[in-house]
Amino acid sequence: MSLAVVVTPGEARAARRALGGSVGFVPTMGALHAGHLALVRRARGENAHVAASVFVNPAQFGPREDLASYPRTPERDLDLLEKEGVALLFAPEPGAMYPPGFETWVQPGPLGARLEGERRPGHFRGVLTVVAKLLQALEPDRAYFGQKDAQQAVLIRRMARDLDFAAEVVVCPIVREADGLAMSSRNVNLSPQERRAAPVLRRALVAAAVAWEAGERRGDVLRRLALTVLATEPLAKPDYVSAADPSTLIEIDGPSERLLLSMAVRFGATRLLDNAVFPEGSGL
Ligand code: AMP
Repeated sequence: MSLAVVVTPGEARAARRALGGSVGFVPTMGALHAGHLALVRRARGENAHVAASVFVNPAQFGPREDLASYPRTPERDLDLLEKEGVALLFAPEPGAMYPPGFETWVQPGPLGARLEGERRPGHFRGVLTVVAKLLQALEPDRAYFGQKDAQQAVLIRRMARDLDFAAEVVVCPIVREADGLAMSSRNVNLSPQERRAAPVLRRALVAAAVAWEAGERRGDVLRRLALTVLATEPLAKPDYVSAADPSTLIEIDGPSERLLLSMAVRFGATRLLDNAVFPEGSGL
């Protein structure tokens, strides 16, 4: 079956209802890479059909953020999704999602005020609102998100529970480049020097993982260790390094049997995220 492309929520709903059987949904902002395609493959394995969306959601960008320079590769995205056997692509323009008079938002609770939410006011309100709208339009059985955006995944799971969404939220592992850098659409904005420096995020996480394996359980020690590794790379400007409870995202200083170690680090104008959950492999 060939890929159907729809551009309004109404068309998306009609096209989804025309698909018989279960639907797995992969929301993206496009500029697709192997991390997105891993979500598509997982969705394909667990559902009769896969639906994807490509929408650079203006509502989740702050006024001084990179909405204008966010990479866009629509033709390549279409081609990749077709090759992956995706049945339905929802690719709306902003006006189709936020028509004149739009005024209703999904507001996260305290979980949305920590970490990324603290640095990017309004970001998760934009994310949750668009994800709620996409799930309403496409009515998937399952929706697939990457652990790469750990707080986003936790918040979407919370929203699905709190608002009784029918879709199951599935969180998939982080896909990395050969040198350890987490795949991200924003990686193309790194200069060659910044690109060479960027795997320091992964090295910081690995240092913490080694310490965890050796028995270190204290959040403050693991956080400091990661910061020490980041400090070896002059181009890396840490925004934050967090060691938090994976469910509440509250910082943990003392020992804990489960931890989300997450970080945001600037390289010039590009801000990169990475994280690991300890014990490793336990996921979010
Ligand atoms: P984005 O297009 O960056 O908004 O990402 C769309 C989805 O793909 C989100 O659920 C991300 O968490 C996920 N994603 C992005 N990068 C990766 C990666 N390197 N590995 C796994 N999932 C990813």
